[in-house]
Amino acid sequence: MKSKKIIALTLAVIMAVVGVIFAGCSNKAEKEDPKDKTYIIYSDNAFAPFEYLDEATNEYVGVDMELLAAIAKDQGFKYEVHNEGFDPSLGAVQSGQADGMIAGMTITDERKEIFDFSDGYFENGQVLTVGVNTGIESLEDLKGKSVAVKAATMGADYAQSIKDQYGFSINTYEGSDQMYQSVTSGSNVACFEDYAVITYAINTGNVNLKTVGEGVNPAYYGFAVKKGTNPELIEMFNKGLANIKANGEYEKILAKYGYQA
Ligand code: GLN
Repeated sequence: MKSKKIIALTLAVIMAVVGVIFAGCSNKAEKEDPKDKTYIIYSDNAFAPFEYLDEATNEYVGVDMELLAAIAKDQGFKYEVHNEGFDPSLGAVQSGQADGMIAGMTITDERKEIFDFSDGYFENGQVLTVGVNTGIESLEDLKGKSVAVKAATMGADYAQSIKDQYGFSINTYEGSDQMYQSVTSGSNVACFEDYAVITYAINTGNVNLKTVGEGVNPAYYGFAVKKGTNPELIEMFNKGLANIKANGEYEKILAKYGYQA
């Protein structure tokens, strides 16, 4: 009898200790305050005016960089940005190396299967962009020619979806800068780029290209996290975005880069 009692008592003590340990662990996870964390945010690196290197200061600037800064300030969270390129950012969020990304990233139903998005903050579509002396005036003129796209972008998807119909081939580049360069150098006759981005590059004299026709597939850019992770970050982004829209800061940031809110 006595030994049974001792066993029962020992078991009870063990279970209590295990219980306390488990409770301690889960409490810790639940109680982590987002304000104590430094979020790792990935971004593109040559996508003016959303994110690009300001050579004078050696800092990344642009609409996305300023919106994120204003939103983080409004919501009181800390972050650091890694400007690694668009496709690498998609990979970093997917692998959990990054907590989120802001990179002129279009919100699509397909991407929603693997990312959770914030509210949209800027509408943009894609447009056919050609070398100034190529004589390309329509998609039909691309027959038998090669077209540049940027890896994993909407422009690349669009080109892929119409290439058989119009009979062109595709060469893929990592960055927008390399994609433009391949067209100005004549390696490809055209590329597909986000309308507001290529228009900015042309208007600022940074690239000698021209757009052809209207933009297609207009949709909103959003801040993204890996699906099912960092819900508080999306919530803070949305709240901060609403606040900076209400206080005029959003409009000011867009205007600085030549856009109307
Ligand atoms: N908006 C485009 C996309 O989401 C391009 C983004 C980019 O090149 N940074 O695919």
